[in-house]
Amino acid sequence: MCKSKEHCVLKTRELYQCNRCHHQTSLTTGTIMESTKLSFKTWFLAMFLMTQTKNGISALELSRQLGISYNASWRLKHKLMQVMKERDDSHPLTDDVQIDDAYWGGEKHGGKRSQGSENKHPFVAAVQTNDDGHPQYMRLSMVTRFRKKELELWAQKHLAGSPC
Ligand SMILES: [Zn+2]
Repeated sequence: MCKSKEHCVLKTRELYQCNRCHHQTSLTTGTIMESTKLSFKTWFLAMFLMTQTKNGISALELSRQLGISYNASWRLKHKLMQVMKERDDSHPLTDDVQIDDAYWGGEKHGGKRSQGSENKHPFVAAVQTNDDGHPQYMRLSMVTRFRKKELELWAQKHLAGSPC
């Protein structure tokens, strides 16, 4: 790229082309939407549906709501989940963080309902709050067990600064 500000728009392919060096770029270059065949409307609607459903949305349900194929919906969902994960991983929780242990699942019919139930997954729930005590960022991380070593590794990855 030559840093020239003179460009033209290639309407047929929705590309911007530099007048000097003929480098071509688009609005989605370098984003997760790069070379997508889906419309922006579909992407933003997917983001809305994924963030507004209480229990998460399956790729199948997403494909129905968006009117796209299951494969397209699956790829879309995983791209969005990946960038959310990358964002979380690059911003550890800081300042006031409240942490609790919790179990997910464990209501399998006919199974045991104790803490040792095979279907129950332990996870760490952490919330960063502001001065007013309002939640800002959260982290829900599956762990194999609530062991000191594992929680130390979790803290190193998800909390800013060293754990006390
Ligand atoms: Zn150029």
